[in-house]
This record gives sequence, structure tokens and C-alpha cells, in this order.
Amino acid sequence: MIMQSVYEEILGELGPDVQLVAVSKTKPVEDIRALYDLGQRDFGENYVQELVDKHSQLPSDIRWHFIGHLQSNKVKYIAGFVHLIQGVDSLRLLKEINKQAARHNRVIACLLQVHIAREETKFGLDATELDEILQAVRATPQDFTHIRIRGLMGMASFTEDQEKVREEFKGLKDLFVEHFSRAQASSDQHFVLSMGMSGDYTIAVREGSNMVRIGSLLFGKRV
Ligand SMILES: *Cc1c(COP(=O)(O)O)cnc(C)c1O
Repeated sequence: MIMQSVYEEILGELGPDVQLVAVSKTKPVEDIRALYDLGQRDFGENYVQELVDKHSQLPSDIRWHFIGHLQSNKVKYIAGFVHLIQGVDSLRLLKEINKQAARHNRVIACLLQVHIAREETKFGLDATELDEILQAVRATPQDFTHIRIRGLMGMASFTEDQEKVREEFKGLKDLFVEHFSRAQASSDQHFVLSMGMSGDYTIAVREGSNMVRIGSLLFGKRV
């Protein structure tokens, strides 16, 4: 069940400069539609089959974000409609997205996922790997005409230690500034720093996030 008051409270907290992606994984289409009816258009999923099913059942003006770990062999199922692939963590995956996007005559926006949680093993690039991917794309732009790298995404450690979470977000923000602030300044493109979930989005926003991915706070706990 969607609580309109919670939704509006979150929107109020985020303000106009931070985009809300409603993470609807495992939740039924009725819940998505309820939030859609309140005006929400950006939704995030992290299972390919579930995303494909929901996309086919819901209004076409929804912007679907793929937020999890994406296997190269599944890109083809979402390439025709996905709005933003958050969580690209290899050059191989980027090449596959480019190839499938070309088939659909699209340019697909991507975020590179950086591993910022120090203790947990989550997917993502370290600072060196991030550098390598960005350099590889810059070196052969002709091989990447159907993707746009629009920024970074990261997940902090799942911990009560707020200072640790804050430091992890700060580290990601620093990488974002290092790699994207010049591009941001010299174009009218908007670059994305996607960080913050139900439990830590207020810290993330304070540390400079401009996109949060919120699931359980909006839709209730997942089983
Ligand atoms: C599930 C998920 C979220 C949302 O998590 P909540 O804690 O329910 O807000 C955000 N980002 C990613 C990558 C996720 O997998």
C-alpha cells in the first residue's frame, strides 16, 4: 500500500534538485500504478524478467531504471525501452549495451557503479577501474556511439555507523567531481550522482547526491 503522506514528505525533503527513483522490485503493478497516479514517473527494478513484465503492463511514459547487477546476456531484453542503466561495472557490459542500443536505434544512458562500501562485497568498480573504463571510452568514441555515460552510482555499507556511511558517500562525490564536473561545466548536460536508499538517503543528499533510489520506505518492506 502506498502512503501518499510518506511520498509527499520524501519529495518535500528532496526538493527540486534531487530526483527520486521509486524502487519497485518485488512489488505488484498495482503499487506502481498507485504511485504513478500520484505523479511519480521514475521507477527502478533490478530483475530483468520482472522489469520486462512490468514494462509491458504499465503506462509507456514511465522511465524505467535498471538499478542492479546486469548480466551482459540479458541486456537485449531491456535495451528497447530502458531509460537509465544504473550499475554498469565493466567495459564488456558497456559494449554489449552499445550493441543492443544500436539495434534499437537508441542511445542508452548509463551510470558507472563504484564500489564504495568498504566492508561488504558489492558489485562495482574501484577508482582505478573507473578511470580505465572512462579512458577506454574516450579513446575509442566511435565504439560507443549508442551509450552515454551520465554519471556514477554507489551503495554505502549497510550499517548503523552514520559516519562511515557519510565518508563512503563523500568518497563517491569526490570521484564524481573529479570525473564529471568539467563536463558538467562545459555543457548543458545534466550529470547524475545516484546515491542514497531508504535508510541513508538523507546523508547521501547532504553529501551531494542528486538522485536517490528509495524502495521500502515508499512501498513497505520486501519479503
Ligand atoms: C533495492 C535497492 C534499492 C532500494 O532499497 P531500499 O532500502 O528498499 O530503499 C536501491 N538501490 C539498489 C541498487 C537496490 O538494489
